[in-house]
Amino acid sequence: MHADVLIVGAGPAGLSAAAELRRLGVERVLVADREAEPGGVPRHSWHTGYGLRDLRRVLSGPAYARALAGAAARAGADIRTASTVTEICGGAATITSPRGVETVQASAVLLATGCRERPRAARLVPGDRPSGVMTTGELQQRVYLGGEQLSGRALVVGAEHVSFSAAVTLAHAGARVVALVTEYERQQSYAAFRAAAALRWRLEVWTSTLVRRVAGTDGRLSGVELAGTHGGTARFVPCEILVFSADWIPDCTLARAAGLSMDPGTRGPAVDTALATSADGVFAAGNLVHAAETADVAALSGRHAARQIAAYLRGRRGPVGSRVPVEVAPPLLWISPNAVAAATPPPPLGRFTLRAAGFGPPGRLEVRQDGRLLGRSRPQRMIPGRSIHLPASWLPGVDPGGGPVRVGRASHHGPVLDDLDDLPGEVASTEPGDGLRRRHMGRIVVTEFVSLDGGSPRRGRR
Ligand SMILES: Cc1cc2nc3c(=O)[nH]c(=O)nc-3n(C[C@H](O)[C@H](O)[C@H](O)COP(=O)(O)OP(=O)(O)OC[C@H]3O[C@@H](n4cnc5c(N)ncnc54)[C@H](O)[C@@H]3O)c2cc1C
Repeated sequence: MHADVLIVGAGPAGLSAAAELRRLGVERVLVADREAEPGGVPRHSWHTGYGLRDLRRVLSGPAYARALAGAAARAGADIRTASTVTEICGGAATITSPRGVETVQASAVLLATGCRERPRAARLVPGDRPSGVMTTGELQQRVYLGGEQLSGRALVVGAEHVSFSAAVTLAHAGARVVALVTEYERQQSYAAFRAAAALRWRLEVWTSTLVRRVAGTDGRLSGVELAGTHGGTARFVPCEILVFSADWIPDCTLARAAGLSMDPGTRGPAVDTALATSADGVFAAGNLVHAAETADVAALSGRHAARQIAAYLRGRRGPVGSRVPVEVAPPLLWISPNAVAAATPPPPLGRFTLRAAGFGPPGRLEVRQDGRLLGRSRPQRMIPGRSIHLPASWLPGVDPGGGPVRVGRASHHGPVLDDLDDLPGEVASTEPGDGLRRRHMGRIVVTEFVSLDGGSPRRGRR
């Protein structure tokens, strides 16, 4: 079988890419997903809040999944469910499904395999191995897709947005949530979520606390031993359900097996701002390259990749050449995209996404190459698990023959070369071949998004 583009994963990123590729006139777009239904994670996330940035409306997770799958199918994409892509080698992919094993030849491949939460074993939590221990993903699938009722006391490990979502799912299923437990000194979600959960379920957040041991009786969870991160006496908390939330890892097995260069920060494939990986014709989008952003951000990343793939297929973007890596300094953990290629487009939404390892007061980020200052951001707070955004207006200053671009906290209040503002909205609509151009008007620096095909600038700002 031959496809112009094979998309691995029918989550928000893969489905949005499929619809966009068809809109751009790409003939044969094949989407393969190992699940029985397309839609990815939102299928089993019943709360509302999906679709704001990409569809401009607010939907529940399942409604959002249906909307994206419907749009991709109506656009003419071929969506194959129960189809696991087990290998990618050059332009050939192996798909295993109930119909058997098939080889697909594709002119381009988009990996959109998403991310998941690190399970208990990978977090090296000692103790017994009883039932009743799961991730939020498993919890949501059991409750919302399997219709399972739960009873007893539950403890959630983590205090990010998804941890509160786990608490809501547990309450919906009939369990009593005792507390959210985090090793950080503060919870990491919005104060409003925390206040609402405290009001509605008297939910407590136990900060600076570690799970030291899991205990089971007759194969069932009986409780956990908790200890302070700074030592002190351990205490035993009886519970029947333990949910490990957040602590994201990209679903990168296929990317690794394909021999793609991996980014040590995101742990996903290294991608440039076109979302091209190190292999010619292989692109990656969604939470595979930034675990975990919200679904609409993943969807817009898929759309962005689709435009770059369409350009690649039309021969308007050459094979992967040399790229300048983009690196971060502690306390920053990772940045995505993490490479810059020559004649590069702006990244999805016109910004880079970063994560920090710990809490930090508001401070500017600084972008340098070989010691040369390319730009500074506005002051931003650092909260582990929450996104930090770095506008891309420094891109034109990158020397393609220079050393790595390094992003870190500004060490002093030096002169602001180019105050990097957020560049919202319409940047997402950049077409292949677009780029950033910087003009100097006296002391004012104007950054414009221009069509490299000769179109007039669509936006200028100070
Ligand atoms: C438990 C959990 C809860 C979340 N809650 C929220 C939330 O409330 N709101 C929010 O905005 N975001 C939430 N997220 C983030 C979520 O990842 C994004 O919402 C969004 O679904 C990411 O889209 P994606 O397309 O990148 O990946 P996914 O939605 O994860 O889709 C990836 C798809 O790839 C498929 N796949 C993977 N490997 C293969 C393979 N080898 N062959 C074939 N198919 C494959 C998977 O089956 C899956 O369908 C949550 C994530 C998790 C894990």
